[in-house]
Amino acid sequence: MTDLPSRRLLLVHAHPDDESINNGATMARYAAEGAQVTLVTCTLGERGEVIPPALAHLTGAALGAHRLRELTAAMAELGVTDFRRLGGDGRYADSGMMGLPDNDDPACFWQADVDEAAGHLLRVIQEVRPQVLVTYDPDGGYGHPDHIQAHRVAMRAVELAADAGCAPAKVYWNRVPRTAGEDAFARLRRELPRLPFREAAALADVPGVVDDERITAEIDGGDAYTAAKAAAMAAHATQIEVHGDFFALSNELAQPVFRTEYYELVRGERGETGVLPAGGGDRASGRETDLFAGIAGIAEEAS
Ligand SMILES: [Zn+2]
Repeated sequence: MTDLPSRRLLLVHAHPDDESINNGATMARYAAEGAQVTLVTCTLGERGEVIPPALAHLTGAALGAHRLRELTAAMAELGVTDFRRLGGDGRYADSGMMGLPDNDDPACFWQADVDEAAGHLLRVIQEVRPQVLVTYDPDGGYGHPDHIQAHRVAMRAVELAADAGCAPAKVYWNRVPRTAGEDAFARLRRELPRLPFREAAALADVPGVVDDERITAEIDGGDAYTAAKAAAMAAHATQIEVHGDFFALSNELAQPVFRTEYYELVRGERGETGVLPAGGGDRASGRETDLFAGIAGIAEEAS
């Protein structure tokens, strides 16, 4: 693959919609800047709960097929053309929430052999040669079996890629810094009376919240990429209801749409930073504003 852009980003997610919620602004920015953005989704989310009553009849394979169409529409909003399912469509079934009998289905992703699944991802890595890989933390952000498994498979694939000489230079986990989360939820509670949502979620409902010091990179979506993110989230209409800067999942609890997306670097070297830490400090402890910062041999394609 000699024709790929010089900057290549790979994101590994569990279900259609996770990519837009977690990384929509980041994906839109890098796609707009001409970077290769590749999304691997591990399942079609066919055990997800459906929000619109008119679509409530969709279950199982029919829901999976519908969610793939939603994902396709979401990627159009983000300008992303390379999106794939791990091992091909339907290779791994949605595992459902933790503790349900669904988790025991031998076809579900939770029951997948991690090495075999990582082998599928390794082939994507060998083809795309991403310098940057983004996935969840070991808890999958919030404990859903498919998210935990996506983390395990992604991190195992990085090991296999290292053995094969093509490891991504940097690996990030999706994060939300506690103070930014608290600020966003304070604003949500002020706005709630004007929103069509019954109640606010709690910060504890947000995946990946950690103390601010652990955040090493932040991507500010600005108006344009935040709008693309919100449109992509809205495209996942069976799963997400979006209203302005806020959204709700099937539990109908309102959450903020984060304009800035946050990351913790867990493999590779931190590059030059663009955001100094609160209260001053040196650049070495600041946050990167580009996930490709510090990677040698990358041509600048941004205008
Ligand atoms: Zn998910």
